[in-house]
Amino acid sequence: MNSTTEKRIALISVHGDPAIEIGKEEAGGQNVYVRYVGEALARLGWQVDMFTRKVSLEQDSIVEHSDNCRTIRLKAGCLEFVPRDEIFEYLPEFVDNFRKFQVENDITYQLVHTNYWLSSWVGMELNKIQESKQVHTYHSLGAVKYNTIEKENIPLIASVRLAVEKEVLEIAERIVATSPQEKEHMRSLVSTKGNIDIIPCGTDIQRFGSIAREAARDELGIDKEAKVVLYVGRFDPRKGIETLVRAVNESGLRDSNNLQLIIGGGSTPGNSDGIERDRIEQIVNELGMSDFTTFAGRLSQDVLPTYYAAADVCVVPSHYEPFGLVAIEAMASGTPVVASDVGGLQFTVVDEETGLLAPPQDVDAFASAIDRILLNPEWRDELAKAGRKRVENKFSWDGVANQLSELYTQLLQPQPLASTAKELVQSTAELVQSTAKELVQSTAELVQSTLKQPVLVAK
Ligand code: UDP
Repeated sequence: MNSTTEKRIALISVHGDPAIEIGKEEAGGQNVYVRYVGEALARLGWQVDMFTRKVSLEQDSIVEHSDNCRTIRLKAGCLEFVPRDEIFEYLPEFVDNFRKFQVENDITYQLVHTNYWLSSWVGMELNKIQESKQVHTYHSLGAVKYNTIEKENIPLIASVRLAVEKEVLEIAERIVATSPQEKEHMRSLVSTKGNIDIIPCGTDIQRFGSIAREAARDELGIDKEAKVVLYVGRFDPRKGIETLVRAVNESGLRDSNNLQLIIGGGSTPGNSDGIERDRIEQIVNELGMSDFTTFAGRLSQDVLPTYYAAADVCVVPSHYEPFGLVAIEAMASGTPVVASDVGGLQFTVVDEETGLLAPPQDVDAFASAIDRILLNPEWRDELAKAGRKRVENKFSWDGVANQLSELYTQLLQPQPLASTAKELVQSTAELVQSTAKELVQSTAELVQSTLKQPVLVAK
């Protein structure tokens, strides 16, 4: 491929705006993934357009990230935040506006990388209309999610989602699983058909790891001797923050006057994340932990490296996680991780090497894992070093973008003529062979049945 127009891609992320502030309601890993993948691909020479849904009149319709990477916000339904379980009905308008954008800008995207099931539907529609090739990343699987939540909390849209997730697995050009565990779930719970590649999520290894622990503590005004436990992420019951709070309450260091719990993540009062934050705060108060617990609010990507570096341990207590960016950000920052023994966390965190894994929602197991690290500073440093190394080797954004770029390039290659001709010869031969076989068989049957007929004698 030599012309830049050929190296063009649309990343579609209907509900996860790559240009928005991260750490607020429904803005988390997917937004970070799309933005960093987009920006890294642009550095590799791709023309990257990232499409998302516009949620307010004040938002710019186009945000330039770099010379050849931009976010484009399309109207789909009302111009306000809509929870992801209620967006499906607006998708036909999203598709229409995507096509209008193509016409107005004289572009046809031959390659579309969709994110989350809502965008996968958009990609499949485009495929029908203009035969664009589709790569898809799930970010979360309905089949796994609905297995881990109470029946009464399963949304009405669940059956549509499950059907769309099965269809895209079977028909997309390629599915990107971000961990071997996610691939396994696709195979066992969604479909045995379809092409899956494993390409993990990544992190910015220059940003995370740019500051040492002492300097980070100075900056945040944290005592050198303090034992700091950190949570970073959205406020959502499935993130398991309650397990973490209860575990810290059981820590052997609980009454040492030396323990600090920092909970980082944004929320809006009255919204679902605000409700969860209030619930967690209430538990903290009930357990008498408020004097050593800080709700740090939304932490920007600029300040996050300082928080990770200042912590002794970062805890990811999710009920389920297809990948879990926070775990690799912490490891890149030289901080060991205690995480739930589920999904992609089993891939990112190596138990006893870069941190510890504990059964999800198991307060005792989390408490003892956290204490093992807090009480063994030398071992903590060993885990930290191994974590940093693992991220450098496996999870840098540039490495991940390179793998994606190779995949896209391969998909955009025209089918080699020789192989097409070979396939044609082969399928014609197979057709001739099977037709001949059927002909012989039906002739034999005809002869046999004729012989069985009673002979009619003319009178
Ligand atoms: N994040 C952030 N500020 C916050 C909280 C979270 O920038 O206050 C980012 C965090 O750094 C990570 C992402 O949000 O990159 C969360 O991704 P993860 O995969 O851990 O969880 P998800 O949101 O996808 O469930």
